[in-house]
Amino acid sequence: MAVNISYKCPTCGAEIFWNAEKNCWACEYCGDSFTLEQLEAQGAAKAPEEINKDNVEKHEEVDTDEYKSSTDGTVGSDLVKYTCSHCGAEIITDRSTAATICVYCGNAVIMGEQIIDDFSPDYVIPFKVPKKDVMEAFRKFSKKPLTPKDFKCDQIVDKMQGVYIPFWLYSGVCSGSINAEGVNVRTWTSGNYRHTEKKYYSVFRDGILEFERVPVDASSKTENDAMDSIEPFDYSELTKFNPGYLSGYLAERYDENSDKCLLRAQERIENTTRDELKKTCDYDTLNIHNYTKETNIKDVKYAMLPTWLLYTTYKEKPYFFAMNGQTGKFIGNLPIDKVKLAIYSLLGCGGGFLIGALARAAGLF
Ligand SMILES: [Zn+2]
Ligand SMILES: [Zn+2]
Repeated sequence: MAVNISYKCPTCGAEIFWNAEKNCWACEYCGDSFTLEQLEAQGAAKAPEEINKDNVEKHEEVDTDEYKSSTDGTVGSDLVKYTCSHCGAEIITDRSTAATICVYCGNAVIMGEQIIDDFSPDYVIPFKVPKKDVMEAFRKFSKKPLTPKDFKCDQIVDKMQGVYIPFWLYSGVCSGSINAEGVNVRTWTSGNYRHTEKKYYSVFRDGILEFERVPVDASSKTENDAMDSIEPFDYSELTKFNPGYLSGYLAERYDENSDKCLLRAQERIENTTRDELKKTCDYDTLNIHNYTKETNIKDVKYAMLPTWLLYTTYKEKPYFFAMNGQTGKFIGNLPIDKVKLAIYSLLGCGGGFLIGALARAAGLF
């Protein structure tokens, strides 16, 4: 017996999804919208701890040989099988997927077993940027002068997906001290002579830095660097997790535990502590001889953070676009047309007006 964690509209009974624009759950059929409190009051929403663990739909193992020909990148990874509670179709996904959308009926499918017990997130930041805004941003971004003409932005943009990425948030203190040599240089001229004076100082600094919610991406599938680049998230909007936020989006479950990710957090924390200590030293140059530090993690929380992702290939090379689903900050790379690039380089060397006009006449821009 499958448990349907998706929520039904208390007014008309249709499935309702999180609406990033309205910041609430909205029904596409009757137009009503609801806050979590309203859904809970009407018995239409469940807290994670209310999910009956015995009733949660369990995955079935998948014979991977059968799916060798799949092209969605999941081949070779750990595949599991669920049944869509809406249309009964089989959904093949990998072990760390927490929410997806049934490709047959469009129904939101939340894998209950992936968000209970150890896997239950503490917090979520709900999506704030609606899909139409992301698509618009991608269109603007991809219509660069150097983008090849046959790079089909309008078709690719449909592949844009809202994905909740699992993050660990570390809080604690770091105490650090640096031993360094500070150098100040003074130069002046008297008569025909130019003088240089170097003064050396022995520098010692120590301090304690308290940090809150240093984020580390907990999914091995996402590019750590890409996730770092779309930070920061505004943690004042962290909300207690509820499975309903996942409906209509994709979601990953963590597959790297908080111990494994700790090293990355520690590195960030310790680099920041060193930089803060350095900032208190006012010398022309500072040579650090020794940096000692000790990090004490006091609290780790598990949070789902919203991202818009788009992966594509052009001439067999991968390209991607990632946007912070809360703030709209994005990064991405695009293919570059070599012919256009050559013309642009010429433009830079002068005679730009004529070549520019010719290029435009030839339909290159
Ligand atoms: Zn409705
Ligand atoms: Zn379905």
